[in-house]
Amino acid sequence: MQAVCYSAPNTFEIKSVPVPEVGEDEILVKVSFCGICGSDRHVIEGNLGPQSQWPITPGHEIVGRVARTGRGVKGFLEGDRVVVDPLSRCDQCFFCRRGKPIQCIEMKVLGWTSPGGFSEYVTVAAKNVFKIFNVTDEEATLIEPTACAIHAVDQLDLKVGSEVLILGAGPSGLMISRICKVNGATRVVLASNKGMKMDMAKQVNAADEYLELERDQSEAKEQWKAFKKANPYGFDAVVEATGSSDIANDAINYVRRGGTLELYGFYGAGLVHWAPSKIFGDEIRIVGALGQHRAFPRAVAYIDSGKINVKGLVTNVYNHQQFQEAVDKLESRQVMKIAVRP
Ligand SMILES: [Zn+2]
Ligand SMILES: [Zn+2]
Repeated sequence: MQAVCYSAPNTFEIKSVPVPEVGEDEILVKVSFCGICGSDRHVIEGNLGPQSQWPITPGHEIVGRVARTGRGVKGFLEGDRVVVDPLSRCDQCFFCRRGKPIQCIEMKVLGWTSPGGFSEYVTVAAKNVFKIFNVTDEEATLIEPTACAIHAVDQLDLKVGSEVLILGAGPSGLMISRICKVNGATRVVLASNKGMKMDMAKQVNAADEYLELERDQSEAKEQWKAFKKANPYGFDAVVEATGSSDIANDAINYVRRGGTLELYGFYGAGLVHWAPSKIFGDEIRIVGALGQHRAFPRAVAYIDSGKINVKGLVTNVYNHQQFQEAVDKLESRQVMKIAVRP
């Protein structure tokens, strides 16, 4: 079979590799599409540390069909349409043994610690495979980001009727916004630069209000000033989903007293500079959210039922031969979700 293989950071070729073996409790999935995600860039650039297995086939937003099942697998038939949860916890580390699998330090990740979805086939533990029925294969690439967004919203621990501000209208910001909206927030404001992503956010009705920022920094600054004035009590929760540490630094100024700030991005070596007195005096809770654990059933339910609409959010489709183009396109403002097919 054919797979995208990175032999070193930023260096790949399309290689012919053996179709993986199928263990007793595993399923061989024939990949139809694999979404490409901001985090894939970190895998590709070699920023994710010693757990990365070189050479590596990235890709963790995997959609396909059951091609073969191991002897111990029940409930799946060849041809079933499925999505794959790429994360497996070890059940044995310090955190897993304390019932905190989300903090597992021996986590296995398809497309990072083992071969992923930019390939014709992957083998996956059957417990990580979920059937889909209605959503298209292409649009099902948004189920994995939705599962992560569900965990992000779980972390907010919102009360019914909360007011939420989301910063960033990429696939993650959009999904977090949408999930807050269908889970009882009275007001969800999505703030991001003007342009295609915000247009799409409106198209899928992602928020209640949109703060469309000008690209010009001084104009944007004025817009934030006016926004602050119009919302003197801030928001119960502010979610920073741009991955910019500068924006994270400022985001705390929009958190209501007693509210929560969530950081949701790969910030690299970026730093923030907050007055501890504000966190102390305003009783602000600061949380992070990385990946998800067992959030796939809920993500499938939202997307496959159409309750969360993902129509049109896959804006670009490439094949393996065009993989570099797909990676380059990640940088573009004119893109929402990119799906890659073999
Ligand atoms: Zn992802
Ligand atoms: Zn563990």
